[in-house]
Amino acid sequence: MKIIVLKFGGTSVGTVERIKNVARIISKYSKQKYKVIVVSSAMGGVTNDLIKKSKLLSNDFSLSEYDVLVSSGEQMSCALIAGRLNHMGYKSQSWMGWQIPILTEGRHGSSRIIQIYKKKIMDFLKSGGIPIISGFQGISLDKRITTLGRGGSDASAIMLAKFFKAEKCIIFTDVEGVYTTDPNMIKSAKKISSISYEEMLEMASLGAKVMQPISIQDARLNRIDIDVKSSFKNKAGTLITKRKNISRNKIITGISFTKNDAKVTLVGVKDKPGVAASIFKPLSQNYINVDMVVQNISANGRETDLTFTIKSEDIKKTKKLIKNNRNIDFRNLLINKNVSKISIIGVGMITTPGVTFRMFQALAKKNINIQVISTSEIKISVLINKENTNKAVSVLHKEFKLYN
Ligand code: ADP
Ligand code: ASP
Ligand code: MG
Repeated sequence: MKIIVLKFGGTSVGTVERIKNVARIISKYSKQKYKVIVVSSAMGGVTNDLIKKSKLLSNDFSLSEYDVLVSSGEQMSCALIAGRLNHMGYKSQSWMGWQIPILTEGRHGSSRIIQIYKKKIMDFLKSGGIPIISGFQGISLDKRITTLGRGGSDASAIMLAKFFKAEKCIIFTDVEGVYTTDPNMIKSAKKISSISYEEMLEMASLGAKVMQPISIQDARLNRIDIDVKSSFKNKAGTLITKRKNISRNKIITGISFTKNDAKVTLVGVKDKPGVAASIFKPLSQNYINVDMVVQNISANGRETDLTFTIKSEDIKKTKKLIKNNRNIDFRNLLINKNVSKISIIGVGMITTPGVTFRMFQALAKKNINIQVISTSEIKISVLINKENTNKAVSVLHKEFKLYN
């Protein structure tokens, strides 16, 4: 049985007309003798609205109720798709995570799929049915509804492809594929025909919203090829696959950016062994993700300045934890939200010297000051003033000739 998983994102199912379009795409694949499993996100904007409501009711909304609430958007879109397919004469039915069940573990709001029970869906496929499965949600061992983090329908699709040994997993979205940078921001961004899991994981983790990072990790672990393409235009998209399958090699494959970081600086920290651990321990215990870190060498050997970045939404909590931390001694706490992180990504940089220099020089020529730097084997990230985001991405796009 040739199984294919088709996932549709929020914009693709955003209106009644678009749901009709999605049903046409599904019918096309089912006529190609595939057994089709469909995964859908909520209609565009619905999840955001639900989150907004929870925040209006409490700034400490129960995480387990948050999951019940925000997973509800997918129920609506899945029923609409199944209903339309029924109207077109197809046998189709919607399934919520708990009905299958899709078992998850981990914290509410950021759970991970560990098991998908196949029997009911398999029987339905064999009977000629098209199951429409809600993305983004599952059920915990204690039978509470869970969600997989923002953009989590991508992870649902990949895990369904894994458990059902699908031949293909296609992610239908509102752009034609993965681009060298966000095509909605930089008009000269180019569609990438194929990209490695490693590069896609970095691009996604560093801000390219087009794929959820965890879904790429899962695809890489399970060697699942992903096609990313538009639900609006019938055009070739981007293949996310293993490095070996990719022939071209530019030095840099893509540029990502984030605008929701905040820079935290502790000025005049009493420098002694273990001080960094004392600062970061309570943050990690409270699920605050610390990203870039720099510690200045202390001039007198007694005091140092420590700078790191967090997500802006964690500022309040971070401030409180640092101020209440009796194990550290510092003179001042500075927080700057007016920053953005720009990253260049590419496996080509492993074998090409001088990439860092070219990046820094290109930014310097445009008078863009670099505040913090972090690197890995295949990426270089810099923190800059937020107002320079577009300028920086454009100049780097040109510097590394990503437009051709
Ligand atoms: P969906 O609702 O289909 O899951 P998302 O909004 O999650 O879609 O992701 C698609 C969006 O990702 C695009 O509209 C685009 O603005 C953004 N994006 C950011 N970086 C990139 C990139 N490098 N390539 C393609 N799209 C990108
Ligand atoms: N509807 C969810 C969200 O907006 C999941 C998804 O779109 O993948 O985050
Ligand atoms: Mg998405």
